[in-house]
Amino acid sequence: MAATRIDGKAFAASLRERVGASAAEFAKAAGRKPGLAVVLVGDDPASQVYVGSKGKATLAANMNSYEHRLPDDTSAADLLAVVEQLNADDAVDGILVQLPLPEHLDEQSIIAAISPDKDVDGFHVINAGRLSVGQAGFVPCTPLGCMMLLTDRLGDLSGLEAVVIGRSNIVGKPMAQLLVDANATVTIAHSRTRDLAAVVKRADIVVAAVGRPEMIGKDWLKDGATVIDVGINRLPPEPGKEKGKLVGDVAYDEAAEVAGAITPVPGGVGPMTIAVLLRNTLVAAYRNAGLTVPEAL
Ligand code: NDP
Repeated sequence: MAATRIDGKAFAASLRERVGASAAEFAKAAGRKPGLAVVLVGDDPASQVYVGSKGKATLAANMNSYEHRLPDDTSAADLLAVVEQLNADDAVDGILVQLPLPEHLDEQSIIAAISPDKDVDGFHVINAGRLSVGQAGFVPCTPLGCMMLLTDRLGDLSGLEAVVIGRSNIVGKPMAQLLVDANATVTIAHSRTRDLAAVVKRADIVVAAVGRPEMIGKDWLKDGATVIDVGINRLPPEPGKEKGKLVGDVAYDEAAEVAGAITPVPGGVGPMTIAVLLRNTLVAAYRNAGLTVPEAL
């Protein structure tokens, strides 16, 4: 039987709508809109597109958007000064420094300068620590979005076998932590894992966050597994085409013959990331204003 297609685009649209409605409620209670500041250094074309779409989505969700576009040769001191100014600005609830930064800037030290209570990307070590010990903080948007899709599909994850492929700080590790917190039995696989196919075959839940086009085929999957494909890979263009096709880490068509449910690429995890960023910003606004965060978020 063919797998159910997990429609991340539709889920993200409904989350954004809920966040927008809740942001309007927040504005009534707090006397101001939630605010998200995005800092972009340099002119990387992909980053320009991301920052533009984040700004539009922020405004559409009844929040204020503040964009700081800085030149490629911005010094660390100047960038830190911008971050400090945003930390001190009461109109700004969330701060996001778009990565990657130009090479002369050290990403870790810039992220460390963001107030953990405005770190809506959840990349600050304080927030990684909070996630690790179970305190309220901010969880990186992509894994939190994956988790929302998984619980929407499966409900209670207790006792399920989950395999996360990839151990990055922004996807794999927080994903594994969220799954453990939801009482799944979790294996984290990576480039040194022996017989990855056999490890993945055990999994009721597979989260692929590798960055290798269509690496996971149907032979790797257990019947009925729920597959979350985080990978975004562009194939070389076909003759006569300017751009190659976008594919995930999972070979969708064949995996769908075996899986119970699977996210497509594009239209699966990708749209969740911005929606969760808005959700995190709204949560930050409630907390920063000393108001109770609505449970529906
Ligand atoms: P990283 O490159 O930081 O991490 C990739 C991970 O995959 C590493 O842990 C690496 O192992 C592992 N890996 C590499 N090759 C293999 C292999 N052959 N077998 C098993 N594991 C392997 O990537 P990210 O976590 O940042 O991103 C992963 C993917 O997700 C990318 O395609 C990225 O574009 C996409 N992404 C999508 C987002 C979205 O919004 N949908 C957001 C963020 C990322 P090791 O640690 O041993 O090197």
